[in-house]
Amino acid sequence: MGPYPPDADRMVMHIEFVALVKQVPRTGEVEVDPETGNLVREGVAAQTNPYDLHALEAALALRDRLGGTVTALSMGPPQAEDTLREAFWMGADRGILLSDAAFAGADTLATAYTLARALRDIPHDLVLAGMQTTDGDTAQVGPGVAEFLHIAHASYVLRIEEADRREVCAVVDAGDRVQRVALALPALLTVTREVNQPRLPSFRRRLATRDRPIETWCREDLAPPEGEEAYFGLEGSPTWVEEIFPPPGNPERETWRGRPGELTDRLLAQLEEWKYL
Ligand SMILES: Cc1cc2nc3c(=O)[nH]c(=O)nc-3n(C[C@H](O)[C@H](O)[C@H](O)COP(=O)(O)OP(=O)(O)OC[C@H]3O[C@@H](n4cnc5c(N)ncnc54)[C@H](O)[C@@H]3O)c2cc1C
Repeated sequence: MGPYPPDADRMVMHIEFVALVKQVPRTGEVEVDPETGNLVREGVAAQTNPYDLHALEAALALRDRLGGTVTALSMGPPQAEDTLREAFWMGADRGILLSDAAFAGADTLATAYTLARALRDIPHDLVLAGMQTTDGDTAQVGPGVAEFLHIAHASYVLRIEEADRREVCAVVDAGDRVQRVALALPALLTVTREVNQPRLPSFRRRLATRDRPIETWCREDLAPPEGEEAYFGLEGSPTWVEEIFPPPGNPERETWRGRPGELTDRLLAQLEEWKYL
């Protein structure tokens, strides 16, 4: 029998991490259907939302240090499996895709509800999400999931300082100041790009996880309670897109060309004229 109590430094905790990962169109290739106002996703090259790679990295790094498992969770069409495969190649232990025609057309509220509903059946001590996506860009889904689950949450995390079985301490960008927060687990954090540098997918892990199944859950698997049957997809989405239009151009914009020294003199003269200097 080993010494008792065991050496605290060598004690391995078991913390259940969940990373929310979304597949998005590659930036720059997004078009909007002028009739419906929805993004045209068919035939567009896709990638994992860049912020979600930071969320996944945060979960993996904490798991590697503290012990536990990382589940990658995504809602999307069948091709979103690629994003979960990438999560395996980075080191995720489990991948779950929520995919059903009933989830289509979801706004941020219905998306958050669907993810939260699934999380009720997925052990989670700490849920990590990106601060926003590069297509929808609303930054609403992470906090929405936490609210549906009634768990603590913090957004725009710049740094995760400490974590253990009971709480997580993080530094967050609060706009006009930086805040240090401590949250009792279970909790949810949305992370910025500053939080870490995501590891690259590994060829070794790619081979090792080649046969690992991705679980696909449909609406029936989420078993909504009575009264919440219509909370999914378009039916559960109170938002609608009224009009999509490019932002108006700025007719007063000027472009100055010239040598750096001339441009600097001109800029200084202009700032003096406007009384900024
Ligand atoms: C009327 C309407 C119809 C729409 N129809 C569709 C549609 O048919 N198909 C479609 O794809 N989008 C549709 N959208 C867009 C959809 O609402 C958003 O893409 C989605 O709710 C996520 O919002 P967001 O991209 O702003 O995420 P944000 O709130 O910016 O994301 C923050 C973080 O939440 C997590 N997250 C967000 N979405 C997911 C997800 N799906 N899975 C896992 N994690 C996630 C990620 O970690 C992400 O970094 C529709 C929107 C509206 C208003």
